[in-house]
Amino acid sequence: MEFQYFGTAAAEGIPAVWCQCAICQRSRKIGGRALRTRSQARINKDLLIDFPGDTYGHILTYGIDMADVHHCLITHTHFDHLYPEGLCTLKTGIAHMEEGYHITFYGSDKVCEALYPFIKGKLDDAGNGRCDVREVKAFETFGVGDYTVTALPAIHGPDSGPLFYQISDGAKNVLYAHDTHYFSEEVWDLWQETKPYFDLVSLDCTNACLPVTYVGHMGLPENIQVKERMLVEGMADENTIFVCNHFSHNGGHVVYDDFVPRAAEKGFLTSYDGMTIEI
Ligand SMILES: [Zn+2]
Ligand SMILES: [Zn+2]
Ligand SMILES: [Zn+2]
Repeated sequence: MEFQYFGTAAAEGIPAVWCQCAICQRSRKIGGRALRTRSQARINKDLLIDFPGDTYGHILTYGIDMADVHHCLITHTHFDHLYPEGLCTLKTGIAHMEEGYHITFYGSDKVCEALYPFIKGKLDDAGNGRCDVREVKAFETFGVGDYTVTALPAIHGPDSGPLFYQISDGAKNVLYAHDTHYFSEEVWDLWQETKPYFDLVSLDCTNACLPVTYVGHMGLPENIQVKERMLVEGMADENTIFVCNHFSHNGGHVVYDDFVPRAAEKGFLTSYDGMTIEI
C-alpha cells in the first residue's frame, strides 16, 4: 500500500494566509517542508481522504490524475477538509472524461448535507451520474472499492459531523485520525473487541508542543498517550509507523525542522506535504 500526504496543515495553512506571527514569518523564509497546505491524503491511486479547496493545488503539485480517484472519505465539513463547491468542476461539459467515470464521497450526515446541494440539481441536472455521496455512521464498517473502512467518532466540533477512519486493503491497516481529541473510550472498547493491528497511525498534532487547553485536537503529549496505549493494548507494535500530522502555526512556536527531532525522540515521524510512506 502506498500512502501519501498532500496537505498537512490545520485550517489556516502554514504560513497562514494573513498571519505575521513569528512561525509564519520563519516558514515563509525557510520554504520547503516548513510550508503546509490544507489536509488531504491518498491511499494508492484511487482512495482520497478529504477534499479541501487546496485539492487543485495538490493536483498540480503531485501530478494527481483525478480519473484514477474513485473514492473519497471526508472526515468532516470544516473548510480545510471539505470544499463542496469544488464538485462543480466534475460537470459534463467542464470535465471531459471517459464514459463510466464514477466517484463516491463518504461521510457523516453533516458531510452529506454539505455535498448534496452540489450534486442534486447541479451535477444531476447536467446529466452527470459521475458522483454520489454515501452517508456513514460512527462505528460502521463498510466497503470502499477493494478496501474495508471503519468510521470512528471524532471528538471535534460536533456541528461538522466529525469522523476518523481506519482503512484496510486486506493486508495493511491504516488509522487516519485527524481533527479529533484523544479518542473516546467507546473507540478503545471497539478495538478491544475487534483487535485491529495498525501498520500506519497518523495522529492529529494541531497543538504540537503546546498543552491542549480545549476540546477537539491533540498535540505531541496526547499523541504519545495514544501510541503508548496502542502498544499496551496490542493495536500496534515496534513495526507500526506513527506520524504526527495536521499542524497549526499556533502549535508552540515550532516549524518542521524544530519538530522533527522532538517527535523522533518519541518514535514519531513528522509529516510534510508530499511525504510518501510505503507500507
Ligand atoms: Zn482540520
Ligand atoms: Zn502565524
Ligand atoms: Zn476541523
